[in-house]
Amino acid sequence: MSGPGAPSVPVLEVFSSFQGEGPRVGERQVFVRLARCDLRCAFCDTPESYPTPDTARVQVAPDDEGDEHPANPMPVADLVAAVARLDRPRGLHRAASITGGEPLLHPKAVAALGPALRALGLRVHLETGGHRPGALAQVLDAIDEATPDLKLESACGVPTPWEAHRESYRMLEAARKALAVKAVVAATTPVAEVARAAAFAAAHVPSAPLVLQPLTGKEGAPPPPSAAWLLHLHTAARAEHPDVRVIPQAHKLMGVR
Ligand code: SF4
Repeated sequence: MSGPGAPSVPVLEVFSSFQGEGPRVGERQVFVRLARCDLRCAFCDTPESYPTPDTARVQVAPDDEGDEHPANPMPVADLVAAVARLDRPRGLHRAASITGGEPLLHPKAVAALGPALRALGLRVHLETGGHRPGALAQVLDAIDEATPDLKLESACGVPTPWEAHRESYRMLEAARKALAVKAVVAATTPVAEVARAAAFAAAHVPSAPLVLQPLTGKEGAPPPPSAAWLLHLHTAARAEHPDVRVIPQAHKLMGVR
């Protein structure tokens, strides 16, 4: 897409790595991390995405640390070209993951980006906080799958947006595009909260597994759950949901982005 009216979007980084979260953990993907977020989760590991940086960081070759730094906002056409350049040899990556920040702050750009990435032969994955159903409706046809969060207050430090989650999940379920619902859990997460969340996910997005992701230690965030507490949380969730998995952030174990 190019020419007048073609969207531009603030980008933090474009890079090749392994998917570190959820059911597709270990899959090689191109990550398109868009800038800006309207949430402030206590455990956030990408606070650098909150402002719009003057320039994006765009990896040039998949096995190389070399970056380019184009000015922001980037035209979607340039972003697609950067992804195509990175997917060499063609097909090295199974998918492109549009992440953030919160990518649904830029629905027009995501709606343009999705089909162009698909045309490169990539499955289009969207990672979202699951709290912007109006924007999700605008991009639903442009994505192949999404992993919405379920923001637990005990881990995030802010009230769970139940109504927005409900709308988002129902929309993804109707389109059969929910890959998983992800809930970050902490040592402070009560059993009752995780049970409520599991029942909620089972009711509104029954086709998707619920992934409990143990919080990774971070200053200012609640402490990570112990192994024993994770087992308790899983037992409580499993009583309400047919498919509950515990998957840690594997990219951090591997030391990749
Ligand atoms: S939604 Fe994601 S990027 Fe935004 S504050 Fe929460 S963890 Fe950070």
